[in-house]
Amino acid sequence: MFDGGELQAMSDEGLIDALRRAHGAAAFAQAAEVLAVRELYRRRREERGEEGDDGRAGEFAASEVAMAVRVSERVAAALIDVGLGLDEMPATRAAFASGRIDLARTQVVVETARGVTAAARAELEPKLIEAADRADPVRLRHTGRRWVGRLDPEGERRRREVREGERDVRIRGVRDGVALFDGLLPAAAAQTVAMRLREMSHEVCEEDPRTMPQRRADALVALADGSGRLRCECGRGKRCPAPKSSGERRRPLVQIGISAESLLGSREDPALLAGYGPIDAELARRIAESAEFQVIPERTEDPSGDEEADREEPPVWLDREVRAVDGLCRFPGCTMPATLGRIDHSRPFDRAHPRRGGATVPSNLAVLCTRHHRLKKAADDGETAWRTDRLDADRLEWTSPEGDVRTTVREGARYLFPHTDIEAPRLPWPQPAEETEAPPAAALDLTYPLERDVPLHPGLSTAIPEDDRPYALENQGR
Ligand SMILES: [Zn+2]
Ligand SMILES: [Zn+2]
Repeated sequence: MFDGGELQAMSDEGLIDALRRAHGAAAFAQAAEVLAVRELYRRRREERGEEGDDGRAGEFAASEVAMAVRVSERVAAALIDVGLGLDEMPATRAAFASGRIDLARTQVVVETARGVTAAARAELEPKLIEAADRADPVRLRHTGRRWVGRLDPEGERRRREVREGERDVRIRGVRDGVALFDGLLPAAAAQTVAMRLREMSHEVCEEDPRTMPQRRADALVALADGSGRLRCECGRGKRCPAPKSSGERRRPLVQIGISAESLLGSREDPALLAGYGPIDAELARRIAESAEFQVIPERTEDPSGDEEADREEPPVWLDREVRAVDGLCRFPGCTMPATLGRIDHSRPFDRAHPRRGGATVPSNLAVLCTRHHRLKKAADDGETAWRTDRLDADRLEWTSPEGDVRTTVREGARYLFPHTDIEAPRLPWPQPAEETEAPPAAALDLTYPLERDVPLHPGLSTAIPEDDRPYALENQGR
């Protein structure tokens, strides 16, 4: 419908509106597809009747779907799976069928509510749909896992233990002189590797020509070949300013936010593993056995009579607190851990007149990754039509040039101070799940099952916050 130059002729508002309608229409079509494959599956099961009902009746429905629309049988099976999940979640099915939530988010809602008791599901479902309106799939998955973890900590722990047994690293898909290095690691171990590779990617000077993904890949090899550090490729030899060996103490690679009660074992609220998402309290306690501790107090007000509020640079304690309570970059949907971000003044600090601008206090500070810090700064400087408003200590509101409004909250605080997670379903505790088997390995992303998740277009290379090159690092390393 958009191939005759209509897009070029649209206003920005019209274009975003068309995009929104197209996304809704795609969701509507996806729902039709899911319900159709689910119906086919029902028919094939019924045909096999009693004698075929050994749990495998209907298994060829996936093959038929794969033949009909040329997807892999794995994708077809996953579509059927979503359809089956929707049988028990009529409100989700309605939201999906009307195009309100797309397949990716529907899949998260279904996977999250799977296995919990019917009573818990009745509480959980409307809250998940509401959350799906506000969040992208990754954030939605985090929020949902946090809530389920609260309802059924024991089940979360068992599912995790089953999964950890599947850990594996292997090389596959050798082609064009490269090989796909692939694997499944326990969350904390994977995060340790990821953070170490990231740390090594920063050991070169600014003129190193490699992208962040290339540096991460080279860093992994450097770890394995024993050299242990990434050599700078700027070609400046001795004039390269990158430190040859950093004698300074390393920052911890993995950070976890957990409430005091869960740490002491008197509660089982989930903890936040920075860069990954929720983990069960038992795992957090195990990691904590060899950890360093930082105590983050819960604040309802900014500290008063504090002269540090008039200085631009937050003191160490405040920097730490803001990162801990934010947990993640505060841009909607961004999942960069706060430990890697920059501290930003929501209302800009006024260097010439410190008292006139935004103060350096908890309620005016938020963490942004480098990419979204750039966006926020451009907005503060009036270079873009984006707008941000700090509504209160917790909420930061983002308004896009087209007027879309989204608000983010302090995710980390929901883990550190569980009573502040007021949107979580309220149910008698504990709520053991009906079944605790792990879902089928590595859930597929059905909406955009692209083989390559890194955009090829060079101009898009910073569209993934993780791949953003470091710039002016004066705010980092503290
Ligand atoms: Zn260099
Ligand atoms: Zn971000």
